[in-house]
Amino acid sequence: MQGFNKYYPPDYDGEKHGSLNSYRGKHALGDRARKIDQGILIVRFELPFNIWCGTCNNHIGMGVRYNAEKKKIGNYYSTPIFSFRCKCHLCSGWFEIQTDPKNTRYVVVSGARQKDEDWNPEENGGFAVHDTDGKAESIDPLAALEKTTDAQNHHKNVQVPRLESLMDLSEQCNADPYSLSLKLRRQFRQDKKVRLEKEKEDGKVRDRYALPTTLKLAEDDEKALEEAKDQWTKARQKKLLLESKQRKLPTMTSITSLSGSRGVASTSAAPGLTGLRARILSNTAKQSARQKIADGR
Ligand SMILES: [Zn+2]
Repeated sequence: MQGFNKYYPPDYDGEKHGSLNSYRGKHALGDRARKIDQGILIVRFELPFNIWCGTCNNHIGMGVRYNAEKKKIGNYYSTPIFSFRCKCHLCSGWFEIQTDPKNTRYVVVSGARQKDEDWNPEENGGFAVHDTDGKAESIDPLAALEKTTDAQNHHKNVQVPRLESLMDLSEQCNADPYSLSLKLRRQFRQDKKVRLEKEKEDGKVRDRYALPTTLKLAEDDEKALEEAKDQWTKARQKKLLLESKQRKLPTMTSITSLSGSRGVASTSAAPGLTGLRARILSNTAKQSARQKIADGR
């Protein structure tokens, strides 16, 4: 029995014995490690598939558990391969199952027969799976010949002429890079000249009307010019009409004032008034100019 409790007997010496298990001469895993010196550990193992026992020929269902002897028997690369030896509970015959790391499964090695339960679609009312690639179809030599002749004809009659025409075109375009460049640069210079001229004109207009530099001005165009002119004349006519109406209105008021009690002709007084106002304005202008000069000094 392994040391479950923590009772330390009087003759126990920690330096000599190390642990309670070693003091009692037991393994930490107890009875399950009774064959540990042979590299065998007893584990609970559950059957991963249905088998038929090789000794008594009984069917043993998947999931039946045994106290199996687990042993490492080799490696697949760095993965250990384990074997499990179990004793049949019906006949006491031994059978052995191994891990198969390569195919990630278990295989029966001896003493039993595994029930073949691979899915067969044909057997279960489905369609058989056929491997479509790999096996090449048998080649009809005449068909193959015909195919190659067609390909050759296509190559000769379609592909080669097309390629040649493309090459001709490319040669024409790239034969004289110097003259091409010259032409291109000349064109660019002309365009640049026109563009700069226009920018200069636009700048002048912007300066005159204090427009923001980001404002895009309309393009000069005969039609646009005509339209603008038309609009301007219309607006002008409208304005003149309005002014003439406004000029007529004071005369009407003067007539009404004439019909008033005073009987002073405001029409005759008006020129005198405006003259006075003009004189005052010019005087103040002169004064302010003088002030300015004085301040300047
Ligand atoms: Zn059996």
